[in-house]
Amino acid sequence: LEPKEEFDHSSLAVDVMRPRRSDPALAVLTQESMTVEEVETLVESTHYSGFPVVVSQESQRLVGFVLRRDLLISIDNARKRQEGVVGASHVLFTDHTPAAVAPEAPPPLRLRGILDLSPFTVTDHTPMDITVDIFRKLGLRQCLVTHNGRLLGIITKKDILKHMAQMSNRDPESILFN
Ligand code: ADP
Repeated sequence: LEPKEEFDHSSLAVDVMRPRRSDPALAVLTQESMTVEEVETLVESTHYSGFPVVVSQESQRLVGFVLRRDLLISIDNARKRQEGVVGASHVLFTDHTPAAVAPEAPPPLRLRGILDLSPFTVTDHTPMDITVDIFRKLGLRQCLVTHNGRLLGIITKKDILKHMAQMSNRDPESILFN
């Protein structure tokens, strides 16, 4: 994001974030209720670079953000080396073991270590000029969007570039790849 590129002052985070109304829902992981197999299926069914982790599907309260690459490497390593980790193992982004996991269940896969516990977030009504300024100053690749503490969406650097291009009616490709 070049400092010279101006951002229109009327756009809000909610105007730029994904998913758009017509898109599939945000792909999120839950902190302690998914199995290794479920996580693998979700990750492999998308090409996203990262996934927000939430307390539960119902609460949509943000716990952190995990990169696709780190998830795949950790799962692969665990399946190869970690005693007993199988598809049915629970993936835990928490410190504790949830009570719901049966004692005879296979050993869980603990992934708190690869979780970014403080991903950058803005609220849905944050003006985009402020958001862009933060992206530039902190060198962000993505930021999460919340409303009343619930996760709503995600904005990547490319989303911002595309939005800028649309606003100025330029061909997005010419901005992204020049
Ligand atoms: P980039 O925007 O650099 O291509 P991604 O591949 O991560 O980065 O994202 C592609 C698109 O999907 C972007 O529009 C982004 O906002 C959106 N996106 C990213 N992560 C998710 C996710 N976990 N669930 C839904 N949409 C996502």
